[in-house]
Amino acid sequence: MQMKVKIIATIGPSTSSQDSIKRLAQIGVEVFRVNFSHGGLEENIKKIKMVKKLGCLAMADLPGPKLRVEGFNRIINSGETISNSKFSLPSLKKGEKVFLSDGLIELEALSDEDLIVLKGGEVREGMGVNIPSIKNFQSPTPKDMEIIKKIKNLSDFIAISYAQSAESIKKARKNYNGNIIAKIETSRGVDNLDEIIKEADAVMVARGDLGVQLPFEQTPLIQKRIISACEESSKPVIVATQMLESMVTGSFPTRAEVTDVANAVLDGADALMLSEETAIGANPENAVKTMKKIILSTQSSVEERHFKTSTVSEAISESAKNISKTIKAKAILTKTRTGKTSLSISRFKSQIPIIALTTSEATFSKLKLAWNTISLKVKNSDEIPMHLFKKGDAVVLTYGGRFTTDSIKVVQI
Ligand code: PGA
Ligand code: MN
Repeated sequence: MQMKVKIIATIGPSTSSQDSIKRLAQIGVEVFRVNFSHGGLEENIKKIKMVKKLGCLAMADLPGPKLRVEGFNRIINSGETISNSKFSLPSLKKGEKVFLSDGLIELEALSDEDLIVLKGGEVREGMGVNIPSIKNFQSPTPKDMEIIKKIKNLSDFIAISYAQSAESIKKARKNYNGNIIAKIETSRGVDNLDEIIKEADAVMVARGDLGVQLPFEQTPLIQKRIISACEESSKPVIVATQMLESMVTGSFPTRAEVTDVANAVLDGADALMLSEETAIGANPENAVKTMKKIILSTQSSVEERHFKTSTVSEAISESAKNISKTIKAKAILTKTRTGKTSLSISRFKSQIPIIALTTSEATFSKLKLAWNTISLKVKNSDEIPMHLFKKGDAVVLTYGGRFTTDSIKVVQI
């Protein structure tokens, strides 16, 4: 059975060989994320090249402005006082909270000099630092822009960490022709959600940072809100982080994780991402297989969506979806240049698959993320891929003139 929701896997020490990437692709991973927050630049570029060499799609996740622990490696205990200078943090005001490792460790400023440990733990160099009182970030950073220069002709996607506004995406776009994913992980990103969605090719609900930058109890509803807004705008949306966290070490998911993955599918996510589970996990293949199992058992229960349509392309998309249901079509075949029509059909979450034919490399990659869409890069998008059908199959075609999709046709193979 085909997965209607796509899986993205993060590459790391547990998955840095060609073999392990190949095996994950065989199980069903559509896109491989290289996280530029970790490892050296050259090493990360090598990973992207390896993914591409295997014929898979790569996402370069840029580090963004996230603060990280520098030169500090030891266990800190609750009640202990630590000088701020040890962490090289920006100057803090009394009462301001500092979280390490997505909230596992918590400190509070006693003054602009000292911090008290509220929740202790092991601090390691490179750990992420969140200070929720800091509301504005530079995104992308000058370092991100340097990385973009190096990978702009290599990576199918770049992910902009801490996207703040439409400007974050526009700035990256000036130097990059591929697909840009906006990571929503700060309160400003949530506030400017609509303008960011409009500018980005796809969006990520980055729950790791989101759950510390904002009170964690807000994450579930923000996730639903981001997904709905992306559906409204026909943009693919990815749900990320801690989806099967216990499988970093364990061999079996918790019931809560199984339910979380299933709920993300029911919420309408186009793709789900594994982070540490595949990057540093004990058994990356097991994590992907587990996610696949949950997707396959849940996807047919995703309810069809309804939208107010206004443009020609939207009207064609809605009609194609309706016709395909009426005649029990095998698929909707869309010839697409920008991917707009395919995405606007995909967002209805119809159970009938969309086969998207495109000559554009970037459109092909973008549609790999989309719900129930089989994306095919072809030389001639007028040809029906006969190998996907049997004689007698009904297929709904959408096609059009040079600039827009304006026609629907039903064909019997
Ligand atoms: P990260 O982004 O893994 O790069 O921090 C994802 C998240 O914050 O959830
Ligand atoms: Mn993050």
